[in-house]
Amino acid sequence: MTYENFKYELDDDGIAVFTFDVPGRSMNTITAGVSRELPMIVEQIKTDPAIKGAILTSGKPTGFCAGADLGEMGSSAAAQQGSAEDRLKAAFDSSYSLNRVLRAMETCGKPIACALEGLALGGGLEIALATHYRVAADNPKSQFGLPESKVGLLPGAGGTQRLPRLIGVQNAAMMILQGEPKKPQEAKALGFIHEVVEPGETLRAAKKWLKGSPKATQPWDEKGFRVKDGPYSPGGGMAFVGGNAVLMKQSYGNYPAQRHIMSCLYEGIQVPMDAALRIESRYFVKTLQTPQARAMIRSLFLSMQELSKGANRPQGVAKYEVKKVAVVGAGFMGAGVAYVQAMAGVESILIDTTIEAAEKGKDYARKLVEKRVARGQMTQERADGVLALIKPTTSYDDVKGSDLVIEAVFENREIKAEVTRRAEAQLGPDAVFGSNTSTLPITGLAEASERPANFIGVHFFSPVDKMGLVELILGKQTSEETLAKAIDYVLKIKKTPIVVNDSRGFYTSRVVGTFIGEGLAMLSEGIKPAIIENIAKQAGMPVGPLSLNDEVAIDLSWKIREQTKKDLGAAYKPTAVDPIIEKMVVELQRFGRKNGKGFYDYPADGKKKLWPGITDLVPTKVDECPPALKAEFIKRILYIQALETAKCFEEGVLMTARDADIGSILGWGFAPYTGGTASLIDGVGVQAFVEQCEALAEKYGERFRPTALLKEMAAKGETFYGRFGGAAAKKAA
Ligand code: NAD
Repeated sequence: MTYENFKYELDDDGIAVFTFDVPGRSMNTITAGVSRELPMIVEQIKTDPAIKGAILTSGKPTGFCAGADLGEMGSSAAAQQGSAEDRLKAAFDSSYSLNRVLRAMETCGKPIACALEGLALGGGLEIALATHYRVAADNPKSQFGLPESKVGLLPGAGGTQRLPRLIGVQNAAMMILQGEPKKPQEAKALGFIHEVVEPGETLRAAKKWLKGSPKATQPWDEKGFRVKDGPYSPGGGMAFVGGNAVLMKQSYGNYPAQRHIMSCLYEGIQVPMDAALRIESRYFVKTLQTPQARAMIRSLFLSMQELSKGANRPQGVAKYEVKKVAVVGAGFMGAGVAYVQAMAGVESILIDTTIEAAEKGKDYARKLVEKRVARGQMTQERADGVLALIKPTTSYDDVKGSDLVIEAVFENREIKAEVTRRAEAQLGPDAVFGSNTSTLPITGLAEASERPANFIGVHFFSPVDKMGLVELILGKQTSEETLAKAIDYVLKIKKTPIVVNDSRGFYTSRVVGTFIGEGLAMLSEGIKPAIIENIAKQAGMPVGPLSLNDEVAIDLSWKIREQTKKDLGAAYKPTAVDPIIEKMVVELQRFGRKNGKGFYDYPADGKKKLWPGITDLVPTKVDECPPALKAEFIKRILYIQALETAKCFEEGVLMTARDADIGSILGWGFAPYTGGTASLIDGVGVQAFVEQCEALAEKYGERFRPTALLKEMAAKGETFYGRFGGAAAKKAA
């Protein structure tokens, strides 16, 4: 037999080795072709008398299989035609087909092992779980997990049924709901990997098992099998009652996949495997059809994949090898940038005004690598190598030979101009100058540059080592070549770049500002602070607006307001929020987390708590939140951000719906279940969104009034992905 995606060999002992190797890909995924060939392979194992046992392994150095091909899944879902009932049936058949073949595999009567040299994720792990014996290489890069819930799905190839039967409901629920993978030794300790061997030895170990007296049955097909923490066991009570409670606390029911995972576990675990797999397939289809899953697959999988391949990169510019970068300003941000660069193997010069300040910046990297070494995530040798790449200095001579400069000094135009001139004097003609300003327009900053075409905004998020987004901002004169080089840099340091045009606050800071502003507006109306904070979390935001204002500093909000007042003069329209901010900052000196008092108190020995004095400042008028009001508050929180996003499109700051969505989710954790700020509007429907915003404007103020672009799009029946869509949009639409 020959297959397109598997190599087949039979040895003298009757052991058939199927080597999974999808042509032209660096990693195996379950493509349509693979799904067609798997049943043929199972049939061959079952019926060929020469085959005594079989091994599944991979021909890719990267690992066994990374799961389903979500790109194909998106387009096949879109291609379905016929009545709703036909579509549902077709979706079930297609989803159940992999379950059917894996069930046939584990019950074919012959022993099958899986030799895992590298990672197995999602559908890849689910194939492995349907074999009788799993051997993994002790390779630090190996990971085994079911990450489907991270893109709004559930494992649909038996993962929700086989994993709990192997490791207990509680452990499986944690693994599936959180989607976090396990290392080989952890997987063995949990009980879903049988044996861990040295890299390169898995095939030999699998053969050894097959030559012993291997069992060709799964534990759950044996008489008397019991699931650990099943529904009617004491542990099961904890797993289901506690699990549901934790789930609601963490996700507020915003993610249908999570609820469906719990249902799959509860219902599936009580019936034999064949019925359990049908239950899983039904929930899988139900989940796939939710708007949340569609939006999350598009944003968190397809768009992320495109951006990480440089989707915004102008064509025709040769790849820019960034080997040396000078970071000017070794403060909070500069220190983080130097660390991520060094981790990616980039020589990093860290400049500050004193050597102590520069060294302090390097200390940040020292602490982070020390922590990694202590946790066994990094060898001392690698840690030393990373630190050796960071050179603290006060001398601009060290900038010489840099491919790029990242300026991260104080948010002050004059200081930034001075730094630009001094650094540029040392740079070669092709080098790029990037400013990490969070608010100052790039075109203005580029006036200090001799080569404004090479000048670009490179906006990191804090903490730099944890936040995956970089917002690249084009000044009026930034060249395409500079953008391409900046994208090459961002990808090299393993971050995701979005690209926007220049404006005060760019895209991300502007929209975050409206979130905080709406929270303050709600506070000024007398809505109880705890309600505001909790509603924001129920809307899917990672933190409440008052908490976020404490983080970014209330005196900064005050300074921005004062500046705006000055700039606008008589045209400035005072708001109900102004006196609150004024009192917090000028009278009470409550600046936020940075001085230990803001809308929250920060006791040295405990968790932060809402400051009880807020209600003296603004007497509480709303201290209950019935469901209708809650729904309206949630809309206020999310829609104000989506409206500002629409304005960014209207002003040409944003160019693609993809960048808006990814920027919002990675930048400030905007409700991921919506797919992001642009997907939110498309999900509601532009027409309906306009109508609902009009109603909010009547009740809460002109800031909710939809602008011309939204009205035009509503009239034409357009969507953001239709009008501003990238390739991902076309694929998943
Ligand atoms: P910071 O105050 O922690 O660090 C600034 C550093 O620049 C200090 O170490 C200071 O000594 C140094 N510096 C000042 N003048 C200098 C000069 N002439 N030459 C060399 N070094 C000089 O500030 P930060 O929070 O790291 O912010 C730096 C920049 O990054 C600002 O433009 C800020 O707007 C931007 N930014 C900050 C954040 C954030 O969350 N803090 C996020 C994104 C962008």
